Amino acid sequence: MNRQLKEQYRRLGISEEVCEFGEKIEISLKERFEEIDNRAEYNQMKVIRAMQQHRVSAECFNGSSGYGYSDMGRDTLEKVYASCFGGEDALVRPQITCGTHALALALLSNLRPGDELLSPVGKPYDTLEEVIGIRPSKGSLAEYGITYRQVDMLPDGSFDYEAIRKALNPRTKLVTIQRSKGYATRPTLSVARIGELIAFLKGIRPELICMVDNCYGEFTEEEEPTAVGADMIVGSLIKNPGGGLAPVGGYIVGRKDCVENAAYRLTSPGLGKEVGASLGVIQSFYQGLFLAPVVVSGALKGAIFAANIYERLGFAVIPDGAESRHDIIQAITFRSPDALLAFCEGIQEAAPVDSYVRPEPWAMPGYDSDVVMAAGAFVQGSSIELSADGPVKPPYAVYFQGGLTWYHAKLGILKTLQKLKERHLVNMD
Ligand SMILES: *Cc1c(COP(=O)(O)O)cnc(C)c1O
Repeated sequence: MNRQLKEQYRRLGISEEVCEFGEKIEISLKERFEEIDNRAEYNQMKVIRAMQQHRVSAECFNGSSGYGYSDMGRDTLEKVYASCFGGEDALVRPQITCGTHALALALLSNLRPGDELLSPVGKPYDTLEEVIGIRPSKGSLAEYGITYRQVDMLPDGSFDYEAIRKALNPRTKLVTIQRSKGYATRPTLSVARIGELIAFLKGIRPELICMVDNCYGEFTEEEEPTAVGADMIVGSLIKNPGGGLAPVGGYIVGRKDCVENAAYRLTSPGLGKEVGASLGVIQSFYQGLFLAPVVVSGALKGAIFAANIYERLGFAVIPDGAESRHDIIQAITFRSPDALLAFCEGIQEAAPVDSYVRPEPWAMPGYDSDVVMAAGAFVQGSSIELSADGPVKPPYAVYFQGGLTWYHAKLGILKTLQKLKERHLVNMD
């Protein structure tokens, strides 16, 4: 690191010692970062090719209002998503309010009363519990007479094939597979492992609809789960594929009939994909997708950098510093509330927005302990932007993700280290 750059970091409150510690770690990650750059390059070409193939033009950015009939920008974007993510069709809309909504839509539109949903990878993401009705909730699948079965993964992180075989029955219509570990401690699934699971399921019941909750996984590998047999992949545009620019939205990509079902449920039977104004956000969807491969690569570098820093300092990190990556989430276990708080304060102070506020733990609805969150984002709640949160209870783990650029992610992590050091919560010798 040259003197000028060190001086710049110093102005942002990072000491020379912290800079040098970070630099040593960064140098040791050169090869891994190269791998990530190569993957970003591959995915960048994939996105550009899809945009060229579908003749994206300036008119696509005009947007529509009212019913949104014949919205060329919207229809073309859906073709781009389908090509890019390897599906027959896509639904990509600002009317899909978030990831949970996209998943609920895919489920509620492709299941009918009497059908059963199976999760062969354990408990799904928290918000899905109410969608499914694991926790009773208005409008849940359970209220419509759709039942749910779950098979947990084995303690070593492998699939419990025998239990999955037993759980399948003539009513099993749809299987939901969550790619990212979310806030669970099981490993995140690679696309290859998802492929093995789908092959096993379809070997028994070829007509099963296999849906993948693709949140946080997009562009972390060369292929998406559609390449290994997924009938639908589902995600949020304020995570990876929105590239930080999409201000709202969700997507479903996959088999034509599955996407069609979702469209008729999102709008109305008889209307489907034909309506839905793209308003003024469509250009950000295109441009965000265009940037997404590089944005995701920055977030991945940040996650790996943090894992290696905190592993070196003696903290438990998931994934560990050397593991292969299939999503952008990093967990660090601090075993102390002070360290958890210091970490979140560091992330907040590094933000371009709201850097001057201090995150405070609070009793968020739906949690059984206080939760502390740090985010200074351009888009509210966007978790492709650098953000961190953790429940203030043992083992005091923080989950962090994102960073629109690698340099910002790096500053955030150095800032966390600086905070921990100043409060004598780490030993850097
Ligand atoms: C974020 C996330 C969701 C829910 O998305 P929201 O946009 O927060 O509603 C679902 N599943 C996984 C794995 C996620 O990471």
